[in-house]
Amino acid sequence: MKQSHLFTKTRKEAPKDEVSKNAQLLIRAGYVHKEMAGVYAYLPLGLRVVEKIKQIVREEMDKIGGQEIIMTSLQRKELWEKTKRWSDEVVDVWFKSELKAGGEVGFGWSHEEPIADMMKNYVSSYKDLPIVVYQFQTKLRNELRAKSGIMRGKEFVMKDAYSFSVGEADHTKFYNASIEAYKRVFDRVGVGHDTFVTFASGGAFTQFSHEFQTIVETGEDTIYINREKGIAINEEVLNDETLASLNITRDELEEVKTAEVGNIFNFGTQKSEDLELYYKNDKGENVPVWMGSYGIGITRLMGLLVEKMSDDKGIVWPKEVAPFQVHLVEIKSESPDVRVEALELYNTLTEAGVEVLWDDRDARAGEKFADSDLIGIPTRVVVSEKTLAAGKFECVERSTGRTFNLSTSELVDQLRHG
Ligand code: ATP
Ligand code: MG
Repeated sequence: MKQSHLFTKTRKEAPKDEVSKNAQLLIRAGYVHKEMAGVYAYLPLGLRVVEKIKQIVREEMDKIGGQEIIMTSLQRKELWEKTKRWSDEVVDVWFKSELKAGGEVGFGWSHEEPIADMMKNYVSSYKDLPIVVYQFQTKLRNELRAKSGIMRGKEFVMKDAYSFSVGEADHTKFYNASIEAYKRVFDRVGVGHDTFVTFASGGAFTQFSHEFQTIVETGEDTIYINREKGIAINEEVLNDETLASLNITRDELEEVKTAEVGNIFNFGTQKSEDLELYYKNDKGENVPVWMGSYGIGITRLMGLLVEKMSDDKGIVWPKEVAPFQVHLVEIKSESPDVRVEALELYNTLTEAGVEVLWDDRDARAGEKFADSDLIGIPTRVVVSEKTLAAGKFECVERSTGRTFNLSTSELVDQLRHG
């Protein structure tokens, strides 16, 4: 993609009312647009990152048998009444609206109820189970807090998955596979070493749950960890009983700030009983389906990566989710040869399957480098009169600042093999 074609521009200052580092950098670099507090639009660069993260999650969900769907944002009141979750006292993030024709709808903040109800059309016998579905869906939540940029949106992209099993044993098999799939996701986006699975006691609607918490200074949550022993404890369950059961003392634990990037729930059969989702077992008896639900905050994860991977010059994307792999910075020249060389390199890289953002703009070198640092693409390749004379391109690794002088084939080779 040519940068002259990109309608977004970088800016020196973030909006005054934006207090979070992730949104400040993402807005300044042109990844997102702030519509209002907690509500962000995703622009060409930002959408590419969202799609990269989604693709990693999609691959891992498909591996464990998930089938992708998209449910609706408008939801029926009566379904949530059946499970006692329509009330604003119980769920404090509801957006709701009156229908002109009469009646009320809710805007999807989660999808357990509609999906369980829908499954009544497809589940009748034990032979129909297990089923695992997932979606990438824009959730709407009337969140009060809006200090974390895209990490806490009123509108945000979540991957939510739902499992339907014949009983606890099958459910547990999938639940554990899901934990492993999530670990692979967090490894692949580059935060695996800082992500911990913590046990959370069940709320009013779940038997129990696990959270995936990633260390980040600006995180809203607190957990207690011991890396050597591989122990991580949620603040809410940190007590003498938990410590004793894990055979650890409080002073062996380090308190860290974290962000919850994923959350998985075991619902047992409660939800199916409330919504009348039953199957017939091999004796012909009606049995409620065992349900689980599994969330990953796609846009929260994007914000977290910016919080963790940035410096005073801008964002430092990990390769796996960067909007482009190469930022080809063409330094303006009197000689037409530089443009020819840049075009040739652009074509060669593109044909080799490398995603390139080509800064072909009519701008000063200093401005281009500053923008390039801010946007944070992993490899910068400079084409200038100087590199032309040297016969090699100057390649700079964004994360380390290391510079290499490479020929076209050396560059392609390096990009292919990391
Ligand atoms: P939190 O405690 O942070 O409000 P939650 O328990 O409400 O999260 P879930 O309902 O389990 O979250 O949603 C699944 C995942 O969606 C969370 O683990 C998180 O990564 C993400 N998420 C939740 N709320 C938001 C939000 N307002 N903005 C962005 N991502 C969110
Ligand atoms: Mg919440």
